[in-house]
Amino acid sequence: MSAQPADARARAADPKKVHIADTAITRQNWYKHVNWLNVTFIIGIPVFGCIQALFVPLQLKTAIWAVIYYFFTGLGITAGYHRLWAHCSYSATLPLRIWLAAVGGGAVEGSIRWWARDHRAHHRYTDTEKDPYSVRKGLLYSHLGWMVMKQNPKRIGRTDISDLNEDPVVVWQHRNYIKVVLAMGLAVPMLVAGLGWGDWMGGFVYAGILRIFFVQQATFCVNSLAHWLGDQPFDDRNSPRDHVITALVTLGEGYHNFHHEFPSDYRNAIEWHQYDPTKWTIWAWKQLGLAYDLKKFRANEIEKGRVQQLQKKIDQKRAKLDWGTPLDQLPVMEWDDYVEQAKNGRGLIAIAGVIHDVTDFIKDHPGGKAMINSGIGKDATAMFNGGVYYHSNAAHNLLSTMRVGVIRGGCEVEIWKRAQKENPEYVRDAAGHRVIRAGEQPTKIPEPIPTADAA
Ligand SMILES: [Zn+2]
Ligand SMILES: [Zn+2]
Repeated sequence: MSAQPADARARAADPKKVHIADTAITRQNWYKHVNWLNVTFIIGIPVFGCIQALFVPLQLKTAIWAVIYYFFTGLGITAGYHRLWAHCSYSATLPLRIWLAAVGGGAVEGSIRWWARDHRAHHRYTDTEKDPYSVRKGLLYSHLGWMVMKQNPKRIGRTDISDLNEDPVVVWQHRNYIKVVLAMGLAVPMLVAGLGWGDWMGGFVYAGILRIFFVQQATFCVNSLAHWLGDQPFDDRNSPRDHVITALVTLGEGYHNFHHEFPSDYRNAIEWHQYDPTKWTIWAWKQLGLAYDLKKFRANEIEKGRVQQLQKKIDQKRAKLDWGTPLDQLPVMEWDDYVEQAKNGRGLIAIAGVIHDVTDFIKDHPGGKAMINSGIGKDATAMFNGGVYYHSNAAHNLLSTMRVGVIRGGCEVEIWKRAQKENPEYVRDAAGHRVIRAGEQPTKIPEPIPTADAA
């Protein structure tokens, strides 16, 4: 990742000059669009490492050391750069901050100051032009493209990093970044393998270069995969998603929908069974007295977000169903007219003032043809609501799809329609459609009517 500090970028941005990123890529100028320093760090060196690996045999001890150092440097990014410095989701003692600044530097992803600044812009301007690694510009762009191609720093959203400028560890690491990279990225992994069991080259290639490559790619997945793969249990208006695969790859940073909703929570996974080793490590540091003030969002607030998102999904499902023509859109019919049409062979049934055309349903009526025929042309409110049979919720739902009109003076309907006009806050979903809950259909009489044949 970029080792280019924010000051250098600011200096490069001469206000009068058009930034190269704002010009079209052509056959003549394409190489000017490429950020060659970053290409060296994130593509050139890994390729060199892969070629070296062909000639350097991998020893078991070196392999184990490379994996251990992968976790150290990876946690430097996730627990240090990300959750501590970018989001202040907990506080760390000085020794822990020095450790995290060192191992985080060993991941070769830029200084804390630069990394946290861009990351805060990513959270503040997610999916917009000001998001430095917006997934809206493509999966590959959010993974690598934003570093490989030059970006106009002025286009990245502004963020406040005054707190970081006050942390001497952050400032020191930023000023000495190249030294930190050389020491922690390459020298330490090589020294441990070399002094420990004589495998200098293995330490350099496997625990150094290739380990850097894997940590970098894992972190980049948070910007790409975590905005592309998985569920959105808390909010689906932006791209962040939750997925166990992303979590496995990124030391627990994969519950990214949660993270973008509750960024100051030191956890990414809130369920005990979800994989979040970064959270477990921070918790362990707390037990050791190295970390304190671990921040958590109230469970009540988290559940509110979850319920609202569920509600939205339900609204979308509800909107796809046929709930029958809304009552206020049905034509009004005179009672005599209704009786007349029924006599002339149209299978009309009035229930609670709503007229239903059951002509095509008579043969399918579970209670038999005779029963349904006996209600045609009459007020079948009582029959339907217990007089003959106390119809199920499903029956009321089905009935509503057969509505064709309302009877003038059909009192329940009139009252209901009036109540609805007077009370605009009648329960409606996000799209403005009335929510019909079980047992709330207009044809439903709350108490079953016990006497037979009230019609
Ligand atoms: Zn994100
Ligand atoms: Zn974040």
